[in-house]
Amino acid sequence: MTATARYSLMIHGGAGALDNVKDQKTAVRYLDSVQRILEHGREVLELGGSALQAAEQCASLLEDDPIFNAGCGSVLNEDGHVEMDAAIMDGRTLGAGAVAAIDGIANPVQLARLVMTESEHVMLIADGAMRFADHCGVERVPASYFYTEDRIAQLKEARLRHKMMLDHESPEDCVCEDQKYGTIGAVAYDMEGNLAAATSTGGIVNKRQGRVGDSPIVGAGVYADNETCAVSTTGYGEEFMRTVIAKTISDFIYMKELDAEEATRAGIDYLRRKVNGRGGMIVIDNQGRCASGMTTKKMIHGWIEHGGEAVVRF
Ligand code: ASP
Repeated sequence: MTATARYSLMIHGGAGALDNVKDQKTAVRYLDSVQRILEHGREVLELGGSALQAAEQCASLLEDDPIFNAGCGSVLNEDGHVEMDAAIMDGRTLGAGAVAAIDGIANPVQLARLVMTESEHVMLIADGAMRFADHCGVERVPASYFYTEDRIAQLKEARLRHKMMLDHESPEDCVCEDQKYGTIGAVAYDMEGNLAAATSTGGIVNKRQGRVGDSPIVGAGVYADNETCAVSTTGYGEEFMRTVIAKTISDFIYMKELDAEEATRAGIDYLRRKVNGRGGMIVIDNQGRCASGMTTKKMIHGWIEHGGEAVVRF
């Protein structure tokens, strides 16, 4: 704990070209949501709430907003179904909880936290995760909670593109630059100098049934260690898993004594150089310094550094 610790908070709502944000009204809708959720997180942290509470609550609010690809706004898989992944990590203890390929739960990040606190495991998936949700008394929501006209239209479009990809047999065509990887995430640094991170997603549009991305994988989509940093990522998950990018950024801090900005830059270079990875990340280091990086054109994100003004960006 540092006596001078002043809270910091970052959240993201996904990376990509964001060509779906074509008009001012839509842009304002995204920016307002990020701003509102940051201010909620500020309240939690100012009242002495933990980084873990702030990360979980901000992630839950992002899951509750249908404009983001998580919770009620989750994209659809190849069968037209929702399959969500989420994880949360506590930098104090390296405690972590994750769920993958789940449906029918409004806030997967909260279920991930229950896996961390109420089970002896780190990750539960599919039916097993749902059985655990029932065991914990987590309420189920009906299918109608998830399926929006936009998501159905988006799946149709992705299916068409997928066919094009098969015609050309080019893997690059599979995930087009204008695809929105709208995963959400939150990282927080509390007044006691503790770090936490949370990530939640519906995954990638038209993904295979059973596909799990980076978001629920400790070290890939999420990581928090009080000694180094808290990280939440968004992007083409397979590339983030292969580079274990969140832990790699943490290792840059641990081994090279970099700050958040330098470690994020090093992480982005590594992601590009090794796998030409597409996406971005938010990072808070062990001094509460905030940084973000991306290889895509844009990433919706915002931050409050050391209790200052909220900043919101595409
Ligand atoms: N990383 C997520 C996944 O691959 C997608 C995203 O960030 O939007 O499942």
